[in-house]
Amino acid sequence: MKLMVEFDSDGVQYPNIAAAILRSGVMVNVERALIDGDEGWALLDVDDKDADMFITALSRKGVSIRIQKDAVSHNRTDCVDCGLCISICQKQVFSFDENWQLVVDSERCVLCGRCATYCPQRALSIQK
Ligand code: SF4
Ligand code: SF4
Repeated sequence: MKLMVEFDSDGVQYPNIAAAILRSGVMVNVERALIDGDEGWALLDVDDKDADMFITALSRKGVSIRIQKDAVSHNRTDCVDCGLCISICQKQVFSFDENWQLVVDSERCVLCGRCATYCPQRALSIQK
C-alpha cells in the first residue's frame, strides 16, 4: 500500500518517519520525497498487513497521512494504445492485455509524472 505523508513546519522539525519505524518495527520504503525546512511530503510503500500499525506510529502533530489510491487517471477514450507509456514508466505501471489494450496498475506509481508529460494523446494525468 502507498501512503502519502505530508509535513507542515512542525512536522519537518523531527525525524517522524524514522521514529515511526522504530516505534512500530514496520519497515517501509520511501519511494519519493521532497522535504525542506518549512514543509514536505513523502510517498511510502508499506505492506498492507502492517499499514494500520505504521499509521498509528506516524500519527503526530504536523503530520498528515492518507492512503494514495488511483494515482494514475487514464482516459480510455483518448488513448490509442501506442504503448509509449509502457516504455517510459520505470515502475511497470502499464502493460498490454491479450487484446493489446493498455492496462494500468496504479498501485505501483511513484508520482514522477513522466507518463503524463509524454503521452502523445494527453490521456494520462497524475493525482497527487
Ligand atoms: S502513451 Fe498515452 S496514448 Fe499511448 S498507450 Fe499510453 S496512455 Fe495510451
Ligand atoms: S507517474 Fe511515473 S511512476 Fe507513475 S505511472 Fe507515470 S511514469 Fe509511472
